[in-house]
Amino acid sequence: MMRECLFCKIIKREIPSEIIYETDKVIVFKDIHPKAEVHLLILPKKHVVSINHLEEKDKELMGELILTAQKIAKEKKLKGYKLIINVGREAGQFIDHLHLHLLSGKLSELP
Ligand code: AMP
Ligand code: ZN
Repeated sequence: MMRECLFCKIIKREIPSEIIYETDKVIVFKDIHPKAEVHLLILPKKHVVSINHLEEKDKELMGELILTAQKIAKEKKLKGYKLIINVGREAGQFIDHLHLHLLSGKLSELP
């Protein structure tokens, strides 16, 4: 059974969010506290806690997450963007469901 984390609840529509893209494996929604003009979260529907919890068999899934970022950036005609993955509390990961931050716009204000 899938663990019940916040992002799993968003995936199951138990918590509302602004979902902008979805496949059987990946979902993308707007970050509730945007830190750039465009701030999206790209995550696997499968509950993986963090990069540290990836297994060999997740290689393809990680490729899909990055290609999803590329696809959305193209669709939105982003001039440039950052992909950030926080790993562990010490690095600012507060939700234990692996996710990529896709950030674009006003990049000088970003880390
Ligand atoms: P991290 O700090 O890397 O774990 O990123 C978690 C991100 O999730 C933060 O940027 C939050 O603003 C965002 N977040 C938290 N709750 C929600 C929510 N209900 N819907 C969308 N984004 C959220
Ligand atoms: Zn989860």
